[in-house]
Amino acid sequence: MEEIHKQALTHDQNDPLREFRDRFHIPHDHQGNEKIYFCGNSLGLQPKTVSGAIDNELEAWRTLGVDGHFTEPNPWWTYHKRLKKPLAHLIGAQEDEVVAMNNLTTNLHLLMASFYRPTAHRYRIMIEGGAFPSDHYAVESQIRWHGFNPQDALIELRPRPEEETLRMEDIIDAIEQQQDSLALLLLPGIQYYTGQFFNLKTITEVAHGAGAKVGYDLAHAIGNVPMQLHDWNVDFAVWCSYKYLNSGPGNTGGAFVHERYANDLEIPRLAGWWGHQEEDRFQMKPGFKPMYGADGWQLSNANILPLAAQRASLQIVAEAGINQIREKSLQLTGFLEECIQSIDPEQKYITVITPRNPAERGAQLSLVFTDRGKEVFEKLTQSGIIVDWREPSVIRVAPAPLYNTFTEVYRFSEILRETLS
Ligand SMILES: *Cc1c(COP(=O)(O)O)cnc(C)c1O
Repeated sequence: MEEIHKQALTHDQNDPLREFRDRFHIPHDHQGNEKIYFCGNSLGLQPKTVSGAIDNELEAWRTLGVDGHFTEPNPWWTYHKRLKKPLAHLIGAQEDEVVAMNNLTTNLHLLMASFYRPTAHRYRIMIEGGAFPSDHYAVESQIRWHGFNPQDALIELRPRPEEETLRMEDIIDAIEQQQDSLALLLLPGIQYYTGQFFNLKTITEVAHGAGAKVGYDLAHAIGNVPMQLHDWNVDFAVWCSYKYLNSGPGNTGGAFVHERYANDLEIPRLAGWWGHQEEDRFQMKPGFKPMYGADGWQLSNANILPLAAQRASLQIVAEAGINQIREKSLQLTGFLEECIQSIDPEQKYITVITPRNPAERGAQLSLVFTDRGKEVFEKLTQSGIIVDWREPSVIRVAPAPLYNTFTEVYRFSEILRETLS
């Protein structure tokens, strides 16, 4: 047996999270052969507990009707609170600082309504060049909504010529150059295309030093890397739950608002009844009084069936623990990098554009092919590998520590080797 194959088997035997794979449904072909699923950065796989969790709420609805809102053990009117603890653990927040609600882009708009308050002099928003389109649209439309022009008010960070990712010193320089005009810095925790994991602690400090508010989009970071948003003093963050959190397609997203705004009645917000104080919410009176913390940004009553699925999936993530997930992820993605190097040591055909430093990336490696990238992608798909293609030229490969194995990484690299030869 080849040395690298042996290594894969040994890693799998020694993997403390190896039992978790069995908690998920693994996609398979018509013959029942399991596919190699490296697309958890786009849609995480379905935990086996999800259908039972949804069924429980269907049963409650079937037998209780409207009384389900107030019937123990899981009354719907406070159901979202059951997700606070596992979510807070993932991003290093206090429970009051997080809420599961809406979807990512909706939350981004709601929090920009509160934290992007441009004035004649301080009105700019800084994002990374090549941002996820939804974030880009959201930011541009907020700028226009306030009567400014994106050509002037939107600043996009670009890597240096011939480089693929942003350097910390360049981010800092760019922020400091805008210190009289920057209203908001909005970055991803991990960039969806390159897989770069930013140093959120330092960036937050620098942006605050420049007088800007700081928001992060954690779509690719939550459940992937540990964070400490409270201690880092981040103003706000948003995320979706269907990538590394495995909660199902389009499931409810979430938001973080730092505790220092928890009781701030001065901060403008777009309000709805679910953000109003619980004590007298059902008295149905005018006069909005926000709930303490992130809950005060809620608009509508929670979507219970998706939350039931999310609660079940978060339970698995919590059981594994984000630090253990990260530890395996560092090994698994490091092993993927080694395997790719062994196929193409001189990077003639494949360039990994994701940072080589493991501290600057999560689970994902983004591969650029010298030519025929799309063809390689199609061949991989025919061989039972699920990865994804992102225009213009990237194949994103993201082994998820909760359900992927080192042997799968090895098999993937063997198929890639055949495909290239
Ligand atoms: C996945 C993702 C989204 C998705 O937004 P939705 O509002 O959940 O549809 C947005 N931004 C980034 C950076 C993403 O990776």
